[in-house]
Amino acid sequence: WSSLDFPWTKKLEANNKTIFGNRSFRPNQREVINATMSGHDVFVLMPTGGGKSLTYQLPAYICPGITLVISPLVSLIQDQIMHLSQANIPAAYLSANMEWTEQQEILRELCLDNCRYKLLYVTPEKVAKSDVLLRHLENLYSRQLLARIVIDEAHCVSQWGHDFRPDYQGLGILKQKFPETPVLALTATATSSVKEDVVQALGLVDCIIFRQSFNRPNLQYSVMPKTKKCLEDIDSFIKNHHRDDCGIIYCLSKMDCEKVAEKLKECGHKAAFYHGGVDPSERAYVQEQWSKDEINIICATVAFGMGINKPDVRFVIHHSLPKSIEGYHQECGRAGRDSQLSSCVLYYNYSDYIRVKHMLSQGALEQNSFASGYSRSSNTNHGRTLETNTENLLRMVSYCENDVDCRRFLQLVHFGEKFDSGSCGKTCDNCSKVQSFVEKDCTLIAKQLVELVKLVRQQFSATHILEVYRGSLNQFVKKHRHDSLSLHGAGKHLAKGEASRVLRHLVTEDFLFEDVKKSDAYGSVSSVVKVKESKAYNLCTGGQTIKLRFPTST
Ligand code: ADP
Ligand code: ZN
Repeated sequence: WSSLDFPWTKKLEANNKTIFGNRSFRPNQREVINATMSGHDVFVLMPTGGGKSLTYQLPAYICPGITLVISPLVSLIQDQIMHLSQANIPAAYLSANMEWTEQQEILRELCLDNCRYKLLYVTPEKVAKSDVLLRHLENLYSRQLLARIVIDEAHCVSQWGHDFRPDYQGLGILKQKFPETPVLALTATATSSVKEDVVQALGLVDCIIFRQSFNRPNLQYSVMPKTKKCLEDIDSFIKNHHRDDCGIIYCLSKMDCEKVAEKLKECGHKAAFYHGGVDPSERAYVQEQWSKDEINIICATVAFGMGINKPDVRFVIHHSLPKSIEGYHQECGRAGRDSQLSSCVLYYNYSDYIRVKHMLSQGALEQNSFASGYSRSSNTNHGRTLETNTENLLRMVSYCENDVDCRRFLQLVHFGEKFDSGSCGKTCDNCSKVQSFVEKDCTLIAKQLVELVKLVRQQFSATHILEVYRGSLNQFVKKHRHDSLSLHGAGKHLAKGEASRVLRHLVTEDFLFEDVKKSDAYGSVSSVVKVKESKAYNLCTGGQTIKLRFPTST
Protein backbone atom coordinates (compact mmCIF):
# COMPACT_ATOMS: atom_id res chain seq x y z
CA TRP A 1 0.00 0.00 0.00
CA SER A 2 2.96 2.31 0.13
CA SER A 3 3.32 2.33 -3.65
CA LEU A 4 3.75 5.62 -5.47
CA ASP A 5 2.10 4.26 -8.61
CA PHE A 6 -1.54 4.79 -7.85
CA PRO A 7 -3.43 6.95 -10.32
CA TRP A 8 -3.97 9.53 -7.60
CA THR A 9 -0.43 9.60 -6.21
CA LYS A 10 0.57 12.91 -7.80
CA LYS A 11 -2.58 14.61 -6.65
CA LEU A 12 -2.11 13.25 -3.18
CA GLU A 13 1.43 14.51 -2.83
CA ALA A 14 0.59 17.91 -4.22
CA ASN A 15 -2.52 18.51 -2.12
CA ASN A 16 -0.92 17.26 1.05
CA LYS A 17 1.53 20.12 0.67
CA THR A 18 -0.55 22.91 -0.78
CA ILE A 19 -3.88 22.38 0.94
CA PHE A 20 -2.87 20.76 4.22
CA GLY A 21 0.55 22.35 4.53
CA ASN A 22 2.37 19.11 5.37
CA ARG A 23 5.86 18.44 4.11
CA SER A 24 5.40 14.67 3.98
CA PHE A 25 3.23 11.84 5.24
CA ARG A 26 3.48 10.35 8.67
CA PRO A 27 3.71 6.59 9.22
CA ASN A 28 0.77 4.73 7.64
CA GLN A 29 -1.02 7.83 6.36
CA ARG A 30 -0.19 7.19 2.72
CA GLU A 31 -0.92 3.47 3.11
CA VAL A 32 -4.33 4.07 4.67
CA ILE A 33 -5.25 6.61 2.00
CA ASN A 34 -4.25 4.26 -0.83
CA ALA A 35 -6.25 1.42 0.67
CA THR A 36 -9.41 3.42 1.23
CA MET A 37 -9.17 5.12 -2.16
CA SER A 38 -8.87 1.68 -3.74
CA GLY A 39 -12.35 1.04 -2.40
CA HIS A 40 -11.56 -1.26 0.53
CA ASP A 41 -13.00 -1.21 4.00
CA VAL A 42 -10.16 -0.15 6.26
CA PHE A 43 -9.59 -0.29 10.02
CA VAL A 44 -6.93 2.03 11.40
CA LEU A 45 -5.33 1.87 14.81
CA MET A 46 -3.16 4.91 15.21
CA PRO A 47 -2.07 6.53 18.46
CA THR A 48 -3.52 9.87 19.45
CA GLY A 49 -1.72 12.58 17.54
CA GLY A 50 -0.69 10.17 14.80
CA GLY A 51 -2.64 12.10 12.17
CA LYS A 52 -5.83 10.14 11.59
CA SER A 53 -7.83 13.08 10.26
CA LEU A 54 -5.67 13.52 7.20
CA THR A 55 -6.37 9.93 6.11
CA TYR A 56 -9.95 10.84 5.29
CA GLN A 57 -9.80 14.59 4.78
CA LEU A 58 -7.31 14.39 1.96
CA PRO A 59 -9.28 11.70 0.06
CA ALA A 60 -12.47 13.69 0.73
CA TYR A 61 -10.85 16.69 -0.88
CA ILE A 62 -9.65 14.98 -4.02
CA CYS A 63 -12.50 12.48 -4.62
CA PRO A 64 -15.80 13.45 -6.20
CA GLY A 65 -18.83 13.24 -3.92
CA ILE A 66 -19.27 13.63 -0.20
CA THR A 67 -17.55 11.95 2.71
CA LEU A 68 -19.78 11.16 5.67
CA VAL A 69 -17.96 11.35 9.02
CA ILE A 70 -19.46 9.93 12.22
CA SER A 71 -17.88 11.55 15.23
CA PRO A 72 -18.99 11.33 18.88
CA LEU A 73 -18.60 14.90 20.04
CA VAL A 74 -19.98 18.15 18.72
CA SER A 75 -17.01 20.06 20.15
CA LEU A 76 -14.66 17.77 18.28
CA ILE A 77 -16.64 18.19 15.08
CA GLN A 78 -16.61 21.97 15.39
CA ASP A 79 -12.88 21.91 15.88
CA GLN A 80 -12.43 19.82 12.73
CA ILE A 81 -14.71 22.04 10.69
CA MET A 82 -12.81 25.10 11.80
CA HIS A 83 -9.54 23.55 10.64
CA LEU A 84 -11.11 22.52 7.35
CA SER A 85 -12.46 25.96 6.68
CA GLN A 86 -9.01 27.42 7.31
CA ALA A 87 -7.83 25.14 4.50
CA ASN A 88 -10.79 26.27 2.36
CA ILE A 89 -12.43 22.86 2.39
CA PRO A 90 -16.19 23.22 2.70
CA ALA A 91 -17.69 20.99 5.37
CA ALA A 92 -20.92 20.93 7.34
CA TYR A 93 -22.32 19.15 10.35
CA LEU A 94 -25.69 18.05 11.61
CA SER A 95 -26.47 17.52 15.24
CA ALA A 96 -29.61 17.13 17.27
CA ASN A 97 -29.21 20.42 19.13
CA MET A 98 -29.12 22.51 15.97
CA GLU A 99 -31.96 24.72 14.71
CA TRP A 100 -34.23 22.80 12.39
CA THR A 101 -34.11 25.46 9.67
CA GLU A 102 -30.33 25.33 9.71
CA GLN A 103 -30.42 21.54 9.38
CA GLN A 104 -32.83 21.79 6.48
CA GLU A 105 -30.61 24.19 4.65
CA ILE A 106 -27.72 21.75 4.88
CA LEU A 107 -29.90 18.86 3.78
CA ARG A 108 -31.16 20.88 0.84
CA GLU A 109 -27.60 21.61 -0.24
CA LEU A 110 -26.89 17.85 -0.21
CA CYS A 111 -29.54 17.34 -2.88
CA LEU A 112 -27.88 19.70 -5.32
CA ASP A 113 -25.89 18.31 -8.20
CA ASN A 114 -23.12 20.73 -7.47
CA CYS A 115 -23.27 20.46 -3.68
CA ARG A 116 -20.38 22.46 -2.29
CA TYR A 117 -19.68 20.33 0.78
CA LYS A 118 -16.88 17.80 0.63
CA LEU A 119 -17.51 16.47 4.13
CA LEU A 120 -20.60 16.02 6.23
CA TYR A 121 -20.07 15.37 9.94
CA VAL A 122 -22.81 13.83 12.06
CA THR A 123 -23.08 12.45 15.57
CA PRO A 124 -23.99 8.75 15.90
CA GLU A 125 -27.38 9.43 17.46
CA LYS A 126 -28.24 11.46 14.40
CA VAL A 127 -27.76 8.33 12.29
CA ALA A 128 -29.78 6.28 14.76
CA LYS A 129 -32.65 8.69 15.07
CA SER A 130 -32.99 10.68 11.89
CA ASP A 131 -34.87 9.07 9.01
CA VAL A 132 -34.55 12.33 7.14
CA LEU A 133 -30.79 12.04 7.21
CA LEU A 134 -30.90 8.43 6.03
CA ARG A 135 -33.18 9.41 3.14
CA HIS A 136 -30.74 12.07 2.06
CA LEU A 137 -27.84 9.66 2.28
CA GLU A 138 -29.80 7.18 0.17
CA ASN A 139 -30.33 9.90 -2.35
CA LEU A 140 -26.62 10.71 -2.44
CA TYR A 141 -25.79 7.03 -2.71
CA SER A 142 -28.10 6.47 -5.63
CA ARG A 143 -26.44 9.36 -7.42
CA GLN A 144 -23.05 7.76 -6.61
CA LEU A 145 -22.08 10.75 -4.55
CA LEU A 146 -21.53 9.04 -1.21
CA ALA A 147 -17.79 8.74 -1.53
CA ARG A 148 -16.76 7.32 1.81
CA ILE A 149 -18.07 6.65 5.31
CA VAL A 150 -15.69 7.43 8.17
CA ILE A 151 -16.26 6.17 11.69
CA ASP A 152 -14.11 8.22 14.04
CA GLU A 153 -13.35 6.91 17.56
CA ALA A 154 -14.57 3.54 16.33
CA HIS A 155 -13.78 1.80 19.65
CA CYS A 156 -17.00 3.37 20.99
CA VAL A 157 -18.83 0.58 19.13
CA SER A 158 -17.48 -2.04 21.48
CA GLN A 159 -18.79 -2.95 24.87
CA TRP A 160 -15.33 -4.29 25.69
CA GLY A 161 -13.80 -0.90 25.14
CA HIS A 162 -13.44 1.75 27.78
CA ASP A 163 -15.85 4.16 26.17
CA PHE A 164 -18.85 2.25 24.94
CA ARG A 165 -21.66 4.31 23.39
CA PRO A 166 -24.91 2.56 22.57
CA ASP A 167 -25.62 4.76 19.54
CA TYR A 168 -22.47 3.50 17.88
CA GLN A 169 -23.87 -0.02 17.78
CA GLY A 170 -26.53 1.02 15.32
CA LEU A 171 -23.95 2.15 12.77
CA GLY A 172 -23.95 -1.29 11.14
CA ILE A 173 -26.96 -0.03 9.22
CA LEU A 174 -24.68 2.13 7.08
CA LYS A 175 -22.88 -0.81 5.51
CA GLN A 176 -26.22 -2.57 4.96
CA LYS A 177 -27.73 0.39 3.20
CA PHE A 178 -24.62 1.49 1.34
CA PRO A 179 -22.69 -1.68 0.56
CA GLU A 180 -20.69 -0.12 -2.27
CA THR A 181 -19.32 2.75 -0.21
CA PRO A 182 -15.98 2.07 1.47
CA VAL A 183 -15.90 2.43 5.25
CA LEU A 184 -12.89 3.80 7.11
CA ALA A 185 -12.89 3.06 10.86
CA LEU A 186 -10.43 5.02 13.00
CA THR A 187 -9.39 4.64 16.60
CA ALA A 188 -6.52 5.35 18.93
CA THR A 189 -7.32 2.61 21.36
CA ALA A 190 -8.24 -0.96 20.72
CA THR A 191 -7.28 -4.31 22.05
CA SER A 192 -7.82 -7.21 19.69
CA SER A 193 -11.19 -8.08 21.21
CA VAL A 194 -12.34 -4.50 20.67
CA LYS A 195 -11.12 -4.65 17.09
CA GLU A 196 -13.10 -7.84 16.39
CA ASP A 197 -16.17 -6.21 17.86
CA VAL A 198 -15.82 -3.10 15.73
CA VAL A 199 -15.28 -5.02 12.49
CA GLN A 200 -18.28 -7.17 13.23
CA ALA A 201 -20.67 -4.49 14.44
CA LEU A 202 -19.92 -2.24 11.47
CA GLY A 203 -20.19 -5.17 9.06
CA LEU A 204 -16.84 -4.41 7.45
CA VAL A 205 -16.02 -6.67 4.52
CA ASP A 206 -12.53 -8.02 3.77
CA CYS A 207 -11.25 -5.27 5.91
CA ILE A 208 -7.66 -4.10 5.61
CA ILE A 209 -6.10 -3.40 8.98
CA PHE A 210 -3.37 -0.93 9.75
CA ARG A 211 -1.95 -0.82 13.21
CA GLN A 212 0.89 1.10 14.59
CA SER A 213 2.87 0.80 17.73
CA PHE A 214 1.27 2.42 20.73
CA ASN A 215 4.61 3.12 22.25
CA ARG A 216 5.15 6.82 22.85
CA PRO A 217 8.87 7.01 23.48
CA ASN A 218 8.81 10.65 24.59
CA LEU A 219 6.37 10.04 27.45
CA GLN A 220 7.78 9.19 30.86
CA TYR A 221 5.49 7.21 33.12
CA SER A 222 5.41 6.98 36.87
CA VAL A 223 3.04 5.99 39.65
CA MET A 224 3.34 7.81 42.97
CA PRO A 225 1.74 6.95 46.28
CA LYS A 226 -1.24 9.20 46.88
CA THR A 227 -1.19 10.52 50.42
CA LYS A 228 -2.94 13.26 52.34
CA LYS A 229 -0.50 15.76 50.96
CA CYS A 230 -1.12 14.80 47.36
CA LEU A 231 -1.88 18.38 46.37
CA GLU A 232 1.39 19.65 47.87
CA ASP A 233 3.15 16.87 46.00
CA ILE A 234 1.55 17.91 42.73
CA ASP A 235 2.45 21.54 43.36
CA SER A 236 6.08 20.77 44.00
CA PHE A 237 6.28 18.30 41.13
CA ILE A 238 5.12 21.00 38.75
CA LYS A 239 7.40 23.63 40.27
CA ASN A 240 10.43 21.35 40.18
CA HIS A 241 9.95 19.80 36.77
CA HIS A 242 7.45 21.83 34.78
CA ARG A 243 7.40 25.40 35.98
CA ASP A 244 5.12 27.43 33.70
CA ASP A 245 4.62 24.44 31.41
CA CYS A 246 1.27 23.47 30.09
CA GLY A 247 -0.46 20.42 31.57
CA ILE A 248 -3.63 18.54 32.36
CA ILE A 249 -4.65 17.13 35.73
CA TYR A 250 -7.32 14.47 35.47
CA CYS A 251 -9.63 14.20 38.48
CA LEU A 252 -12.40 11.79 39.30
CA SER A 253 -15.23 14.09 40.26
CA LYS A 254 -16.33 17.61 39.48
CA MET A 255 -15.65 18.58 43.07
CA ASP A 256 -12.11 17.23 42.87
CA CYS A 257 -11.47 19.31 39.76
CA GLU A 258 -12.51 22.46 41.59
CA LYS A 259 -10.55 21.63 44.73
CA VAL A 260 -7.37 20.86 42.86
CA ALA A 261 -7.65 23.97 40.69
CA GLU A 262 -8.28 26.13 43.76
CA LYS A 263 -5.26 24.76 45.57
CA LEU A 264 -2.97 25.18 42.58
CA LYS A 265 -4.10 28.76 42.14
CA GLU A 266 -3.27 29.42 45.78
CA CYS A 267 0.17 28.03 45.07
CA GLY A 268 0.65 30.52 42.26
CA HIS A 269 -0.17 28.44 39.20
CA LYS A 270 -2.40 29.62 36.38
CA ALA A 271 -4.97 26.87 36.74
CA ALA A 272 -8.66 26.41 35.91
CA PHE A 273 -11.18 23.60 36.12
CA TYR A 274 -13.27 21.98 33.40
CA HIS A 275 -16.09 19.47 33.74
CA GLY A 276 -19.61 18.67 32.63
CA GLY A 277 -21.17 20.91 35.27
CA VAL A 278 -19.53 24.03 33.90
CA ASP A 279 -21.73 25.79 31.40
CA PRO A 280 -20.76 25.52 27.73
CA SER A 281 -19.73 29.13 27.23
CA GLU A 282 -17.46 29.01 30.28
CA ARG A 283 -16.00 25.70 29.08
CA ALA A 284 -15.29 27.17 25.66
CA TYR A 285 -13.68 30.16 27.37
CA VAL A 286 -11.41 27.97 29.51
CA GLN A 287 -10.42 25.91 26.52
CA GLU A 288 -9.60 29.02 24.55
CA GLN A 289 -7.54 30.52 27.39
CA TRP A 290 -5.68 27.26 27.56
CA SER A 291 -4.93 27.17 23.84
CA LYS A 292 -3.59 30.71 24.15
CA ASP A 293 -1.44 29.82 27.15
CA GLU A 294 -3.30 32.27 29.38
CA ILE A 295 -4.01 29.25 31.56
CA ASN A 296 -1.33 26.58 31.95
CA ILE A 297 -3.06 23.91 33.90
CA ILE A 298 -6.49 22.44 33.42
CA CYS A 299 -7.99 20.32 36.18
CA ALA A 300 -10.58 18.23 34.42
CA THR A 301 -12.65 15.12 34.32
CA VAL A 302 -12.10 12.82 31.35
CA ALA A 303 -14.73 14.92 29.61
CA PHE A 304 -11.84 17.16 28.67
CA GLY A 305 -9.53 15.87 26.06
CA MET A 306 -11.06 14.16 23.07
CA GLY A 307 -10.04 16.31 20.17
CA ILE A 308 -7.63 18.41 22.17
CA ASN A 309 -4.96 19.37 19.74
CA LYS A 310 -2.44 21.28 21.81
CA PRO A 311 0.99 20.05 20.81
CA ASP A 312 3.04 21.25 23.79
CA VAL A 313 1.26 19.63 26.74
CA ARG A 314 4.27 18.81 28.92
CA PHE A 315 2.57 16.81 31.65
CA VAL A 316 -0.55 14.79 32.34
CA ILE A 317 -1.18 14.11 36.01
CA HIS A 318 -3.79 11.67 37.26
CA HIS A 319 -5.02 12.82 40.63
CA SER A 320 -7.04 9.60 40.91
CA LEU A 321 -7.09 6.13 39.51
CA PRO A 322 -8.16 6.01 35.83
CA LYS A 323 -10.97 3.62 34.86
CA SER A 324 -8.95 1.45 32.52
CA ILE A 325 -5.53 1.05 30.98
CA GLU A 326 -6.95 2.03 27.60
CA GLY A 327 -8.40 5.21 29.02
CA TYR A 328 -5.17 5.92 30.88
CA HIS A 329 -3.09 5.43 27.78
CA GLN A 330 -5.32 7.72 25.79
CA GLU A 331 -5.36 10.43 28.46
CA CYS A 332 -1.58 10.31 28.75
CA GLY A 333 -1.45 10.47 24.95
CA ARG A 334 -2.52 14.10 25.12
CA ALA A 335 0.95 14.95 26.40
CA GLY A 336 3.91 15.47 24.12
CA ARG A 337 2.26 15.48 20.73
CA ASP A 338 5.18 17.57 19.53
CA SER A 339 7.44 14.60 20.33
CA GLN A 340 9.22 16.49 23.13
CA LEU A 341 9.85 14.79 26.46
CA SER A 342 6.76 14.91 28.68
CA SER A 343 5.71 13.45 32.05
CA CYS A 344 2.77 11.27 32.97
CA VAL A 345 2.35 10.91 36.73
CA LEU A 346 -0.36 8.90 38.38
CA TYR A 347 -1.16 9.32 42.07
CA TYR A 348 -2.48 6.05 43.36
CA ASN A 349 -3.89 4.62 46.54
CA TYR A 350 -5.96 1.54 47.08
CA SER A 351 -8.89 3.40 48.59
CA ASP A 352 -9.40 5.25 45.32
CA TYR A 353 -10.03 1.86 43.79
CA ILE A 354 -12.96 1.36 46.12
CA ARG A 355 -14.22 4.82 45.36
CA VAL A 356 -14.03 4.37 41.59
CA LYS A 357 -15.55 0.92 41.80
CA HIS A 358 -18.50 2.33 43.66
CA MET A 359 -18.92 5.17 41.18
CA LEU A 360 -18.86 2.69 38.32
CA SER A 361 -21.60 0.61 39.87
CA GLN A 362 -23.67 3.76 40.31
CA GLY A 363 -23.03 4.87 36.75
CA ALA A 364 -21.77 8.06 38.34
CA LEU A 365 -18.58 8.59 36.39
CA GLU A 366 -18.43 11.33 33.83
CA GLN A 367 -17.87 9.93 30.34
CA ASN A 368 -15.59 11.71 27.98
CA SER A 369 -18.62 13.20 26.38
CA PHE A 370 -21.40 15.53 27.26
CA ALA A 371 -21.55 17.96 24.43
CA SER A 372 -22.93 15.44 21.97
CA GLY A 373 -26.32 15.24 23.57
CA TYR A 374 -25.41 11.70 24.45
CA SER A 375 -27.19 10.78 27.63
CA ARG A 376 -25.31 9.07 30.34
CA SER A 377 -28.24 7.02 31.53
CA SER A 378 -28.44 5.28 28.19
CA ASN A 379 -25.06 3.80 28.89
CA THR A 380 -26.55 0.85 30.71
CA ASN A 381 -24.03 0.23 33.38
CA HIS A 382 -25.32 -3.21 34.02
CA GLY A 383 -24.66 -6.81 33.13
CA ARG A 384 -21.84 -7.26 30.73
CA THR A 385 -20.89 -3.61 30.68
CA LEU A 386 -20.53 -3.31 34.43
CA GLU A 387 -18.58 -6.52 34.51
CA THR A 388 -16.27 -5.30 31.77
CA ASN A 389 -15.82 -1.97 33.48
CA THR A 390 -14.97 -3.65 36.75
CA GLU A 391 -12.49 -5.93 35.04
CA ASN A 392 -10.92 -2.96 33.22
CA LEU A 393 -10.59 -1.15 36.53
CA LEU A 394 -8.93 -4.13 38.20
CA ARG A 395 -6.32 -4.29 35.44
CA MET A 396 -5.60 -0.65 36.17
CA VAL A 397 -5.16 -1.39 39.89
CA SER A 398 -2.85 -4.21 39.05
CA TYR A 399 -0.79 -1.82 36.89
CA CYS A 400 -0.46 0.59 39.81
CA GLU A 401 0.33 -2.09 42.34
CA ASN A 402 3.15 -3.34 40.16
CA ASP A 403 6.37 -1.68 41.27
CA VAL A 404 8.65 -4.00 39.41
CA ASP A 405 7.86 -4.25 35.69
CA CYS A 406 8.39 -1.62 33.03
CA ARG A 407 5.29 0.61 32.74
CA ARG A 408 5.69 0.90 29.02
CA PHE A 409 5.87 -2.87 28.73
CA LEU A 410 2.75 -3.27 30.89
CA GLN A 411 0.77 -0.85 28.74
CA LEU A 412 1.88 -2.31 25.44
CA VAL A 413 1.16 -5.87 26.53
CA HIS A 414 -2.35 -4.71 27.22
CA PHE A 415 -2.68 -3.66 23.58
CA GLY A 416 -1.36 -7.01 22.46
CA GLU A 417 1.93 -5.52 21.42
CA LYS A 418 5.30 -7.04 22.08
CA PHE A 419 7.89 -4.77 23.58
CA ASP A 420 11.04 -6.66 22.90
CA SER A 421 13.47 -5.57 25.52
CA GLY A 422 10.87 -5.68 28.31
CA SER A 423 12.42 -2.54 29.72
CA CYS A 424 12.44 1.03 28.51
CA GLY A 425 15.80 2.07 29.89
CA LYS A 426 15.15 4.88 32.28
CA THR A 427 11.91 6.38 31.07
CA CYS A 428 9.55 4.91 33.63
CA ASP A 429 9.73 4.86 37.40
CA ASN A 430 10.18 1.11 37.67
CA CYS A 431 12.99 0.98 35.13
CA SER A 432 14.82 3.94 36.56
CA LYS A 433 14.93 2.67 40.12
CA VAL A 434 18.21 1.00 40.72
CA GLN A 435 16.86 -2.19 42.09
CA SER A 436 17.12 -5.90 42.13
CA PHE A 437 14.42 -8.35 42.98
CA VAL A 438 13.76 -11.42 44.94
CA GLU A 439 10.97 -13.69 44.00
CA LYS A 440 9.11 -14.93 47.02
CA ASP A 441 6.68 -17.76 47.35
CA CYS A 442 3.69 -16.13 49.00
CA THR A 443 1.33 -19.07 48.85
CA LEU A 444 1.13 -19.50 52.61
CA ILE A 445 0.42 -15.83 53.22
CA ALA A 446 -2.20 -15.92 50.50
CA LYS A 447 -3.93 -18.96 52.00
CA GLN A 448 -3.90 -17.43 55.45
CA LEU A 449 -5.40 -14.20 54.19
CA VAL A 450 -8.19 -16.05 52.38
CA GLU A 451 -8.75 -18.10 55.51
CA LEU A 452 -8.87 -14.96 57.63
CA VAL A 453 -11.43 -13.33 55.36
CA LYS A 454 -13.63 -16.36 55.94
CA LEU A 455 -12.97 -16.36 59.69
CA VAL A 456 -14.36 -12.83 59.96
CA ARG A 457 -17.35 -13.96 57.91
CA GLN A 458 -16.52 -11.82 54.88
CA GLN A 459 -17.77 -8.76 56.68
CA PHE A 460 -14.66 -6.60 57.11
CA SER A 461 -12.49 -4.27 55.09
CA ALA A 462 -9.06 -5.01 53.65
CA THR A 463 -7.48 -2.61 56.13
CA HIS A 464 -9.05 -4.45 59.04
CA ILE A 465 -8.01 -7.86 57.71
CA LEU A 466 -4.43 -6.64 57.50
CA GLU A 467 -4.57 -5.17 61.01
CA VAL A 468 -5.69 -8.50 62.41
CA TYR A 469 -3.17 -10.44 60.36
CA ARG A 470 -0.34 -8.27 61.63
CA GLY A 471 -1.55 -8.68 65.19
CA SER A 472 -2.93 -5.24 65.93
CA LEU A 473 -4.68 -4.77 69.25
CA ASN A 474 -6.56 -1.63 68.33
CA GLN A 475 -9.99 -0.98 69.78
CA PHE A 476 -11.87 -2.10 66.71
CA VAL A 477 -9.99 -5.41 66.67
CA LYS A 478 -10.74 -5.93 70.35
CA LYS A 479 -14.35 -4.92 70.04
CA HIS A 480 -14.95 -7.68 67.53
CA ARG A 481 -12.73 -10.07 69.50
CA HIS A 482 -10.60 -10.64 66.48
CA ASP A 483 -7.55 -10.78 68.73
CA SER A 484 -8.68 -14.23 69.74
CA LEU A 485 -8.74 -15.62 66.18
CA SER A 486 -6.18 -18.30 65.38
CA LEU A 487 -4.70 -16.18 62.59
CA HIS A 488 -4.43 -13.00 64.68
CA GLY A 489 -0.80 -11.94 64.35
CA ALA A 490 0.08 -14.74 61.97
CA GLY A 491 1.75 -12.21 59.70
CA LYS A 492 3.57 -10.15 62.30
CA HIS A 493 7.03 -11.26 61.20
CA LEU A 494 6.49 -9.98 57.66
CA ALA A 495 8.13 -6.86 56.27
CA LYS A 496 5.95 -3.79 56.13
CA GLY A 497 3.73 -3.79 53.10
CA GLU A 498 4.29 -7.41 52.25
CA ALA A 499 0.93 -8.69 53.45
CA SER A 500 -0.93 -5.84 51.81
CA ARG A 501 0.88 -6.48 48.53
CA VAL A 502 -0.30 -10.10 48.68
CA LEU A 503 -3.84 -9.14 49.61
CA ARG A 504 -4.10 -6.68 46.74
CA HIS A 505 -2.70 -9.28 44.41
CA LEU A 506 -5.45 -11.62 45.55
CA VAL A 507 -7.97 -8.92 44.70
CA THR A 508 -6.57 -8.03 41.29
CA GLU A 509 -6.33 -11.71 40.40
CA ASP A 510 -9.88 -12.33 41.55
CA PHE A 511 -9.32 -14.73 44.47
CA LEU A 512 -10.87 -12.07 46.67
CA PHE A 513 -13.10 -9.20 45.74
CA GLU A 514 -14.22 -5.92 47.21
CA ASP A 515 -17.93 -5.67 47.86
CA VAL A 516 -18.57 -1.95 47.85
CA LYS A 517 -21.57 -0.38 49.54
CA LYS A 518 -22.89 2.97 50.47
CA SER A 519 -22.48 2.88 54.21
CA ASP A 520 -24.54 5.81 55.39
CA ALA A 521 -27.03 8.42 54.38
CA TYR A 522 -24.23 10.89 53.60
CA GLY A 523 -23.13 8.71 50.72
CA SER A 524 -19.78 7.67 52.12
CA VAL A 525 -18.59 4.38 50.79
CA SER A 526 -17.42 1.30 52.61
CA SER A 527 -16.21 -1.98 51.33
CA VAL A 528 -15.77 -5.47 52.66
CA VAL A 529 -13.52 -8.16 51.27
CA LYS A 530 -15.12 -11.41 50.19
CA VAL A 531 -13.87 -14.69 48.80
CA LYS A 532 -14.41 -15.76 45.20
CA GLU A 533 -14.84 -19.44 45.97
CA SER A 534 -14.43 -20.71 42.43
CA LYS A 535 -10.92 -19.29 42.25
CA ALA A 536 -9.85 -19.56 45.86
CA TYR A 537 -10.65 -23.26 46.05
CA ASN A 538 -7.60 -24.23 44.03
CA LEU A 539 -5.38 -22.06 46.16
CA CYS A 540 -6.65 -23.41 49.45
CA THR A 541 -6.41 -27.02 48.38
CA GLY A 542 -2.80 -26.62 47.37
CA GLY A 543 -3.32 -26.69 43.62
CA GLN A 544 -1.82 -23.27 43.06
CA THR A 545 1.17 -21.32 44.17
CA ILE A 546 1.53 -17.57 44.31
CA LYS A 547 4.87 -15.97 43.62
CA LEU A 548 5.53 -12.28 43.76
CA ARG A 549 8.62 -10.25 43.05
CA PHE A 550 9.78 -7.78 45.65
CA PRO A 551 12.40 -5.12 45.18
CA THR A 552 15.44 -5.46 47.41
CA SER A 553 17.11 -2.24 48.38
CA THR A 554 20.62 -1.90 47.04
P1 ADP B 1 -5.27 12.11 15.63
O1 ADP B 1 -6.68 12.33 15.15
O2 ADP B 1 -4.65 10.85 15.11
O3 ADP B 1 -5.11 12.24 17.12
P2 ADP B 1 -4.79 14.50 14.16
O4 ADP B 1 -5.38 14.06 12.88
O5 ADP B 1 -5.60 15.43 15.00
O6 ADP B 1 -4.37 13.25 15.02
O7 ADP B 1 -3.38 15.10 13.86
C1 ADP B 1 -2.54 15.55 14.90
C2 ADP B 1 -1.70 16.73 14.46
O8 ADP B 1 -0.73 16.29 13.51
C3 ADP B 1 -2.50 17.81 13.78
O9 ADP B 1 -2.05 19.03 14.28
C4 ADP B 1 -2.16 17.64 12.31
O10 ADP B 1 -2.23 18.86 11.60
C5 ADP B 1 -0.75 17.12 12.36
N1 ADP B 1 -0.43 16.28 11.18
C6 ADP B 1 -1.15 15.27 10.67
N2 ADP B 1 -0.53 14.73 9.61
C7 ADP B 1 0.62 15.40 9.43
C8 ADP B 1 1.72 15.31 8.50
N3 ADP B 1 1.74 14.40 7.53
N4 ADP B 1 2.74 16.17 8.66
C9 ADP B 1 2.73 17.10 9.63
N5 ADP B 1 1.74 17.25 10.52
C10 ADP B 1 0.69 16.41 10.45
ZN1 ZN C 1 10.22 1.14 31.80
